[in-house]
Amino acid sequence: MSAFRTLQFPTANIPPDGVTHAGEITFQDLAIDPEDRFAFPSPLHFVFTLTIVNDDVLVAGKLSGVIEVMCDRCTDNAPCKVAVDDVFHRYENVVGEVVDLTADIREDILLTFPQSYLCSDACRGLCPSCGGNLNRERCACSAAADAGQDNPWRQLDSLKL
Ligand SMILES: [Zn+2]
Ligand SMILES: [Zn+2]
Repeated sequence: MSAFRTLQFPTANIPPDGVTHAGEITFQDLAIDPEDRFAFPSPLHFVFTLTIVNDDVLVAGKLSGVIEVMCDRCTDNAPCKVAVDDVFHRYENVVGEVVDLTADIREDILLTFPQSYLCSDACRGLCPSCGGNLNRERCACSAAADAGQDNPWRQLDSLKL
């Protein structure tokens, strides 16, 4: 193990023409924990180029990965691509020190998390009666609904109309 965390770069190691670092970072490394709607089965990939301009360090690059997000309709977790194509940060007066990108990269990727998400546009969701996942099963209630006139609930519905 290096003494530095994945996204900490000593500026002394940055050559005049800049340097490109590519690698992987886990969500755990970014202090992003799984919660109800999000899970993180695989790490993020990054490619960053660090250059020194005067006393500042410029960081430009990309982040990408796949997270799992809970579907708003059926509550199953489904894979969701997340990416930041235009990572750009400037760290002022840090030459001679260690640049730590962790906090900024954490913010960058959190901003890509979807507020709402469907596993598929065709997701059928959950049965309102029994809670069955209609993508996977055809529950007794939906079969009864399809049975038509004999279904007392369907008749009740038409009375209300
Ligand atoms: Zn769904
Ligand atoms: Zn049902």
